[in-house]
Amino acid sequence: MLKVRQTASSPQPSPPKAEREQTPRPRCSIWYEDQKWLCRDCGQQFVWTAKKQQHWFEVLKLPIQVRALRCPTCSRKVRLAKAAQKAHMAEVARRPRHPNEGFFKSSSGRKAKSES
Ligand SMILES: [Zn+2]
Repeated sequence: MLKVRQTASSPQPSPPKAEREQTPRPRCSIWYEDQKWLCRDCGQQFVWTAKKQQHWFEVLKLPIQVRALRCPTCSRKVRLAKAAQKAHMAEVARRPRHPNEGFFKSSSGRKAKSES
């Protein structure tokens, strides 16, 4: 049992393709570039910076198809509004339920059925 085990693959790695030199950008990773967009809310042109894109996709792990829709000013407004809404919802959840809540729900459901 002194036979030398032969490796299935050839010992020499295949030489890198010459065409690789034509593409300096790494193919596997995303290349970020500053992009100009029109804000969906105010219509102003804004720059979606490469740095921000990287933050979105690598830090926040957003889906790659996500695009900036609003300028920084408008997106901040939306963020604040969302935060305010969240705080409001949390406050509502903390509040005791209305004693008649169940009654309103069931009566409205029955009403819709009978009307149709
Ligand atoms: Zn805007």
